[in-house]
Amino acid sequence: MQVKHQVHGVDTSRAIRIDYDHCIGCQMCARTCIDGQKIGAFSLAPIKTPPYLHSINGNNAQNTETTRVKMDDTNCIGCGQCVTSCTTGAIEPANRTAEIFTAKQAGQILVAVMAPSTRVGMAEGMGMGIGTTAEAQTVAGLKQLGFDYVFDNLWGADVCTMEDAKEVIKARQAGKGTVFTSCCPAWINLVETRYPELIPQISTARSPHGIICSVIKKFWVKDIGKKADDIFVVGVMPCTAKKFEAARPQLVTDNTPDCDISVSTRELVTLFKENNISFSEEREHELKSNSQGQFDSPFNEYSGSAYIFGKTGGVTESVVRYVYSINKLPFNKSVIQNGLIWESSDKYQSLKLMEFPLGKEKYRAVVCHGGQAVEELMKIHEQGLLVDVDVVEVMMCPQGCVNGGGQPKLVRKQLTADRPKGLDKHDREAKYGDCQSNEKMHEMLNKWMPTEHDIHDALHTHYDNRRMK
Ligand code: SF4
Ligand code: SF4
Ligand code: SF4
Repeated sequence: MQVKHQVHGVDTSRAIRIDYDHCIGCQMCARTCIDGQKIGAFSLAPIKTPPYLHSINGNNAQNTETTRVKMDDTNCIGCGQCVTSCTTGAIEPANRTAEIFTAKQAGQILVAVMAPSTRVGMAEGMGMGIGTTAEAQTVAGLKQLGFDYVFDNLWGADVCTMEDAKEVIKARQAGKGTVFTSCCPAWINLVETRYPELIPQISTARSPHGIICSVIKKFWVKDIGKKADDIFVVGVMPCTAKKFEAARPQLVTDNTPDCDISVSTRELVTLFKENNISFSEEREHELKSNSQGQFDSPFNEYSGSAYIFGKTGGVTESVVRYVYSINKLPFNKSVIQNGLIWESSDKYQSLKLMEFPLGKEKYRAVVCHGGQAVEELMKIHEQGLLVDVDVVEVMMCPQGCVNGGGQPKLVRKQLTADRPKGLDKHDREAKYGDCQSNEKMHEMLNKWMPTEHDIHDALHTHYDNRRMK
């Protein structure tokens, strides 16, 4: 496409890359970042001119018609929602997929870890329709690309549910107030840079991906007689902010990152198509009962609740199911009472109250998704209105990870509502619904982390105050 403006070249942060030569200056990305996500890393430029970037150093003088402030000098949290709104492909997830093949050539063992929502995005990106899933074909395709092991991060979601629930129960018993979830790295970036005073209230549990990658590099690798730097771990994610998370200095083992690189669903779709891999309903069915389509042991056992981590409210429901299970109470959805606190005008983002009884007590959760919703949440928090809320679930992407910045682009955003259907179907068909019933996971944790101290070291983390102007 011929561009008329004078800004050229490529600028890459850890999460996203902008190719100014493909930018037509429509400002959709800037509107998404400013109005949709309330971040303001971009600011509006005249139409047909690439958007300006807002420098956190106050050095906006470099924002000329031939140069732009660099992404790394902004307060971008890596959510990738600007990627989903760019129609020309000028903004894309920052791509490091070439490193997979370099690692293979160097003799490293390739390990892929697949997130709950990736199976939805892969099916959609490979032409199977919205709301379908394609986990077996994704596993087989990754093996065809040269991966030695493909693990399911539903395992990490089960562990994360348990660790989050423990934090919530402990905080309630100690009267420490509300716990905010930590699964979403874009949210963690926002907390560290805009709301660092909230850090003591953020769950120290690593994200599901942070958990499984830590366990792979600290323990599993020894079980196969290798060291952390013998393997190359690749996250296969719906998310662009996971690329930031992979680079967090806290998430390392023996001086190697727990996750070497994180690849988005869309990047994997491109790799599959370049390698002539195609998907169909029939092929998915066939591979489900075939060893080629199976996730590898030992990270291949999980509850139905792990699937719903991919949609807004899923983490909270998983925690409720776990708490009911450890209290030997039967769970069904009707125990949770929902109330709407706030909703965006396009009904795409919201704040919801979820209440559930436990014996004579009542637990309260607030579920928040999308940047506008986070802004509303923080207003409520500053007014002291969250005092009797036990846990707040925050996902920076509207509707949660099914709509992450690394997922396929939709022609109409309303279609996002269909994406969780595939996850819900797997949840209904699962052998059991809550992570407490995952006996193999408990056995693995007991073997590898027999003490609370071990658990804390491997499964928890800390956050830094990186306040920006
Ligand atoms: S959405 Fe894409 S094409 Fe439009 S201004 Fe942003 S980068 Fe340029
Ligand atoms: S990734 Fe998110 S925060 Fe960063 S520029 Fe895009 S919309 Fe804004
Ligand atoms: S909501 Fe999910 S996909 Fe979006 S930034 Fe957070 S973890 Fe990533």
